[in-house]
Amino acid sequence: MVASQTIARRPETETTLDFDAVVIGAGVSGLYQLYSLRELGLRVRAFEAGTGVGGTWYWNRYPGARFDSESWTYGYSFSQELLDEWDWDEHFAAQPETERYLNYVADKFDLRRDIQFKSRVAAAHYREDRRSWDVRLEDGRRYTTRLLVTAIGVLSAATMPTIPGVETFQGKSCHTHYWPKESVRFAGKRVAVIGTGATGIQTITEVAKTAGHLTVFQRTAQWSAPLHNAKIANEEMNRIRANYPEIFARCQETYGCFIHAADPRATYEVTREERDAFWEKLYGEPGFGIWMGNFRDVLVDREANKLMSDFLARKIRDRVEDPAIAEKLIPKNHGFGTRRVPLESGYFEVYNQPNVKLVDINETPIECITPTGIKTSDAEYGFDIIIYATGFDAITGAFDRIDIRGVDGLSLKEKWKDGPQTFLGILVDDFPNMLMVMGPHAGLGNFPRAAEYSADWVTRLIRFARDHGLTRIEATATGCDAWTDHVIEASEGLLFTEVDSWMTGINRNVEGKQVRRIMRYSGGHPKFRERCEAVAADGYRELALA
Ligand SMILES: Cc1cc2nc3c(=O)[nH]c(=O)nc-3n(C[C@H](O)[C@H](O)[C@H](O)COP(=O)(O)OP(=O)(O)OC[C@H]3O[C@@H](n4cnc5c(N)ncnc54)[C@H](O)[C@@H]3O)c2cc1C
Repeated sequence: MVASQTIARRPETETTLDFDAVVIGAGVSGLYQLYSLRELGLRVRAFEAGTGVGGTWYWNRYPGARFDSESWTYGYSFSQELLDEWDWDEHFAAQPETERYLNYVADKFDLRRDIQFKSRVAAAHYREDRRSWDVRLEDGRRYTTRLLVTAIGVLSAATMPTIPGVETFQGKSCHTHYWPKESVRFAGKRVAVIGTGATGIQTITEVAKTAGHLTVFQRTAQWSAPLHNAKIANEEMNRIRANYPEIFARCQETYGCFIHAADPRATYEVTREERDAFWEKLYGEPGFGIWMGNFRDVLVDREANKLMSDFLARKIRDRVEDPAIAEKLIPKNHGFGTRRVPLESGYFEVYNQPNVKLVDINETPIECITPTGIKTSDAEYGFDIIIYATGFDAITGAFDRIDIRGVDGLSLKEKWKDGPQTFLGILVDDFPNMLMVMGPHAGLGNFPRAAEYSADWVTRLIRFARDHGLTRIEATATGCDAWTDHVIEASEGLLFTEVDSWMTGINRNVEGKQVRRIMRYSGGHPKFRERCEAVAADGYRELALA
């Protein structure tokens, strides 16, 4: 413990700081960050808004919620014991299994004793005189800490649509993120789902199985592809376990930390027959192979992308009986893979059911929510239940909801009003001793793979500061500018930058989020790690440390 005294306390404030580090969030990232900082001997407290651990997998209990990552690539890799003990039931686990897993982790490593639940952080203000942060919870409780580590999620700030009358509806209504813990029954009920992103597609497929009648309100059709989920038998789990070293090594090599890597061939380098056979194969395989393991040019070359999109359009036409409905379900405003690809398990066939209706709100916009249902420009629909699958103020949303102030009271929200500026997605100049796990402009991807790396990097930096008697860690303005420029450069030529989506910072329901921005690093995780390692190997001389 003595070694932690320097980062932990400066002599003059030795007894005044409540914690060496506060971690905000107890999802995949926060749990591991808490574990790592505690291992370092720091006095850590995690503040979590929810009543349990799991983050995404605690909140999103909506029907059909499940991974698009292979479960066995999603678990933590840091503990061999944990890998030995945990069996995944399905290749793509549903929310309850993942929540169980993260609870198991919290129990195994006795993390709960340092997590304060029902504790939403409302404000965090930096104090230069003490090189520390004052943290205020929503309920008014206040704490002081040397280090503020955010693990608040990229998809955790849910947004409701700004449709007039939302609050007037007298039936049951719920955003998918805030889904209640009690089960909701749809049998015999008239149900509406607003939104057809990844969450909407999972919800619709599940709800359609039992709803009396389901009406789907779609603004943006999606290039959704089959998930091909399956149970994992015992012998298969044993084989997976034996292969963990190779699996994790593979995830380290790939662009997005998935097991899928882009095919080295370009779309036009093969014959039409070879191309179609390859796409058929990808369409028939589980997971994100169709997105991450496609020809290398599909996400950058307009023609290649068009061919791939045409292939998927044919699939939709094959699967949907009514040609007019099929046309509505085929995206017209973006190409395949330029928005987050939702994986589905029978989604398109839902529209062949007599109890399901699709309403294209581009043709007939929703005018308002009424006490009894939804009014569009051409009809009034009665509902018992309205489900809002309207997504998130992604990546920076959770930051914007906290009043974070750095040196001289500078507001982070204000600093980022034209887009995030960070150093490696981890540090921000003028915000000393604030470290972000999976902040904007960090290397994203199969989440725990990327989050474990980020949290480890943060822990190594803190250890360095502690070992060198440093109490102030800050990125330089030059470093932030250079990284931000590099992030922007790395996205050039990628077709996704030309499309409105949460990946480009657009949320029509949030003021100030109508202009496309580069929100994440697109250079691939291996390059991200290379850069982070170079900074560490150089003794963090690119940072301002004191
Ligand atoms: C429906 C859905 C499906 C997904 N599927 C996949 C997938 O298949 N593969 C994949 O890699 N990723 C997936 N993701 C992304 C997912 O968010 C990550 O995989 C991962 O769970 C993120 O972990 P995290 O700890 O960084 O953030 P989160 O899990 O979002 O946790 C953040 C936590 O911080 C808390 N918090 C936020 N603000 C505050 C505050 N001010 N005060 C206190 N607490 C706060 C929140 O309550 C939350 O518990 C999915 C996301 C969603 C929404």
